[in-house]
Amino acid sequence: MTGAHTPASAAATITGNRGLRIEEPLIFEQGDPAKSGVDLPRPDDRPDRLGGLARQGPIGLPGLSEPEVVRHYTRLSQKNYAIDSGFYPLGSCTMKHNPRLNERMARLPGFADLHPFQPVSTVQGALAVMEALSAWLLGLTGMEAVALSPAAGAHGELCGMQAIRAALDARGDEHRRVVLVPDSAHGTNPATAAQCGFKVRGIPGDDRGRVDLAAFKAALDDSVAAVMITNPNTCGLFETDILALSRAAHEAGAFVYMDGANYNAIVGRVRIADLGADAMHINVHKTFSTPHGGGGPGAGPTVLSAALAPFAPLPHVVRDGEGWRLIEHVEGDMRPFGRMKGFHGQFGVFVRGLAYIMSMGKDGLRAASGDAVLNANYLLARLGASLTPSFEGPCMHEALFDDRFLKGTGVSTLDFAKALIDEGFHPMTMYFPLVVHGAMLMEPTETESKASLDVFCDTVLALAEKARAGETALFTEAPRHTPRRRLDETRAARHPVLRWEPPAPAPVHAPAPAPRRVAAQS
Ligand SMILES: *Cc1c(COP(=O)(O)O)cnc(C)c1O
Repeated sequence: MTGAHTPASAAATITGNRGLRIEEPLIFEQGDPAKSGVDLPRPDDRPDRLGGLARQGPIGLPGLSEPEVVRHYTRLSQKNYAIDSGFYPLGSCTMKHNPRLNERMARLPGFADLHPFQPVSTVQGALAVMEALSAWLLGLTGMEAVALSPAAGAHGELCGMQAIRAALDARGDEHRRVVLVPDSAHGTNPATAAQCGFKVRGIPGDDRGRVDLAAFKAALDDSVAAVMITNPNTCGLFETDILALSRAAHEAGAFVYMDGANYNAIVGRVRIADLGADAMHINVHKTFSTPHGGGGPGAGPTVLSAALAPFAPLPHVVRDGEGWRLIEHVEGDMRPFGRMKGFHGQFGVFVRGLAYIMSMGKDGLRAASGDAVLNANYLLARLGASLTPSFEGPCMHEALFDDRFLKGTGVSTLDFAKALIDEGFHPMTMYFPLVVHGAMLMEPTETESKASLDVFCDTVLALAEKARAGETALFTEAPRHTPRRRLDETRAARHPVLRWEPPAPAPVHAPAPAPRRVAAQS
């Protein structure tokens, strides 16, 4: 394992800081319980009304002044590489610019200060926003119904697959418990199927990077509940046999779940209903530019076909005379499988997504998907001469390469990615999809200019040249310019240290003890 510390020549500073990058201990390691950020008069002559509930010992919070707190969190925020700091070609994740207009809209007090328990008569505007977003999603996809409440793509998968299960049970098809999942699928697909009580059966791809239609047809029998298919798929390729696939699935009595994480490539160009999908989640935080990452709020509205619409989860927003109404309990012939979460979903994300959709308009959304595909093909064309594209022909919104071009160089996909960090780029997605060796999946999105794509391409091409020229250490020792070097990621995943333990009391005025962070750092 490469050492965590910088080579001595470059390292030694008195403070441990490097350039303007300041070493940041945990806030608990900085605080002094004797300090306080507030100055309140001591309450005197107040009867103690807490009785036995009064705190016995100190509360254990770090004591810091306001400027210390502000500096701590500002420095932490600067350690976060984001789409706002630079190019972020993370394939499958659609890291596109989040227009600030979205944020302005989401911060309007009429949206930001709502409470989910407010009477419906006081939140008519919010319900109108949900209805408007639903109308756009249904218009774009051509589907029958949409459940807005799922909080992420994976949650949307759960919603769609629960609807499928409910529909199967309602028609007495409880014996259908197998879900077919292509080998290139995102890990959430088999996980979702298993979570819903289905058995997962893998379907191989063909040498064009698409689902093997013959193998798929051969796997269809009356035990099959559904197929989960990603289109464009995780190799960045359009499933050209999609119509044959969905027709065969339907003829065999199975449903078609479409993973819509890659919808950004086809939005405004392909109606999902026309592909034969029964359900598809939409990652608003990918396709419609709302922020994502770090497990933060996303939204995974799930569109449903007429066959699944009756099973959509509650709540529903419906027009009611002049206004809007929330349906929270079963009415008429609806047969909801349940609810996905408390309240109505990630409302702030709905506002952002709708702001994006309305500011782009139908023509703008169509232009964006076209530009996303154009940008990816630009990468494929420029890098394809030196790297090894995994499949022949043009791609959709992401370009997939494998590690054949590194053969014999002693440089791995991981090393190559770390060298990109030294060059100021967030690496592409590595080792996914699993169907190609040492995968490098690059998704530039439509929000990159040609100039920024060129800087990235020039860098990748120069690195590939250096790898072939035997400059192996440049890669195996990378990253050399980050505050931390290579971490033992396996150990961090297997033995995470999630709890901070206070150090033994130190003598007054002694220097602060060395920071203790995750044990996995070496
Ligand atoms: C991102 C992604 C998901 C999961 O979406 P989340 O919003 O991260 O839960 C599922 N499938 C594919 C192909 C994805 O890229």
